[in-house]
Amino acid sequence: MELIHILQFYQYVCLDEPELFARHHLSFCKEIGLRGRILVACEGINGSVSGTEEQTLQYRKVLQRDTRFKNMLFKEDSGLMHPFKKMVVKVKPELVRFEQDVDLKHAGMHVTPREFLELAQKEDVIVLDARNDYESKVGKFKNAITPRIKNFREFPKVLELLKGKEDMKIAMYCTGGIRCEKASAFLKEHGFKEVYQLHGGILNFGKELPDTLWEGACFVFDKRLTSSINTDEKPITNCELCGIPCDLYKNCAHTLCDKFCIVCIECEKQYGGCCSLECFKHLLQRGIKSNICSSLIQRTA
Ligand SMILES: [Zn+2]
Ligand SMILES: [Zn+2]
Repeated sequence: MELIHILQFYQYVCLDEPELFARHHLSFCKEIGLRGRILVACEGINGSVSGTEEQTLQYRKVLQRDTRFKNMLFKEDSGLMHPFKKMVVKVKPELVRFEQDVDLKHAGMHVTPREFLELAQKEDVIVLDARNDYESKVGKFKNAITPRIKNFREFPKVLELLKGKEDMKIAMYCTGGIRCEKASAFLKEHGFKEVYQLHGGILNFGKELPDTLWEGACFVFDKRLTSSINTDEKPITNCELCGIPCDLYKNCAHTLCDKFCIVCIECEKQYGGCCSLECFKHLLQRGIKSNICSSLIQRTA
């Protein structure tokens, strides 16, 4: 079985005609035979693609020949399955929706994984997770502050959390680095003097310094949902139904609930893919003819 290679990347760069760029880029990706999801905006490109080693190498080479993307950092991973069904290139108003005007020229200083590790262990440094709560729940840097935000637009709430700490050093991180570009600029504009951002994010850190300061798994926005950072990965969270250590996310099978929850394989079977006994009962009561009901009948028969 051939190994599937996965690339993750972004570049903030001015694209004059994002629609045109997206159309050309989609046909180029399809020509190579890649799968993935790429977002294009006036402010740049952000995406993840998967394919064979040869296909992903070809993609990298062509992009790095383009002066606009020559400094782009590619985060690499591999797996046995494609994390994407097909190839999509979408035009969006922003690469990551923030809805705050920030000057990216004044973003926090990039630090390498090694520098980040050193910073993060100092007493006068605040380690800040710039991701959402459901992401930090399954994995984070050991001593990080993890804001309770549901999406990146809520990041400004961090100002409340860090009130009075403007003189302390901030070492911030996100999955691949793209959110920190904006979030670090935002913090600087709000009085924080020394803000550092982890270059290439957690994914890059994991490639260089696994089994150091990271705990748990790294949430990723594709079919995999998590990617390993350490060689011996232990869940830092528990099944919401039975409490065993587990970091498997799924949406509740009761579509009206749809809660994004952590449920272990055993409980998934027992509760028909639901987040709770209540949802499971609802599903059965509503007589929704689904595989869940038939699998239950089979199991109890
Ligand atoms: Zn369970
Ligand atoms: Zn539910």
